[in-house]
Amino acid sequence: MSETAARALAQMFERMSGVIETEKDHLSELDGAIGDGDHGITMSIGFKAVTAALAALDLDSASPSDVMSTAAGGFLDAVGASTGPLYATGFRRAAQALAGRGHLDLAACRDMLAAMSEGIRDRGKAQRGDKTMLDVWMPAAEAAATAVANGRSKPEFWKAVEIAAENGAAATATMVATKGRAARLRERSLGHTDPGAASAAMLIKAMAAML
Ligand SMILES: [Mg+2]
Repeated sequence: MSETAARALAQMFERMSGVIETEKDHLSELDGAIGDGDHGITMSIGFKAVTAALAALDLDSASPSDVMSTAAGGFLDAVGASTGPLYATGFRRAAQALAGRGHLDLAACRDMLAAMSEGIRDRGKAQRGDKTMLDVWMPAAEAAATAVANGRSKPEFWKAVEIAAENGAAATATMVATKGRAARLRERSLGHTDPGAASAAMLIKAMAAML
């Protein structure tokens, strides 16, 4: 069974990379409004590196945890700054959360989302409301925990996670940036969706579609 789960995760990363590629220009435009305009390129480089690293992995013998740690290494090698260490830490924590688990049941998916969210929070030292990707990952992880606690079905679980992510990304437009380059703009960052939050919602949507 673990081969199946590892393959599902590898396909999830393929899908993430594809979505980022499609939305690359849009993400850079969002970043151009409040940052340095490179977010689409950065994410594209990171996810291409992830899929290249996973292509070299033997998915017949790899565990889900192996897939996540390979993704972490690939992302960090390609993107050393900005989002690089954040996603690398998130993926690495997800690898730890999935260690010894061969199935991607809803409890595993919940734990993976929680680990991603906590890893990004710890590495970035951001709080919720700082207008960052955390404003998407945290509510998505919470929605996952609530869905499992309430015994939701798989489609209900992913729908709840996806909606929480979309709402989280939209909410960043009402927030004043306190982290990163956008923080220099203070109130002028109002009205603009955070590019990292926008891409996080895209990644979670890809996750929901593939898992
Ligand atoms: Mg940027």
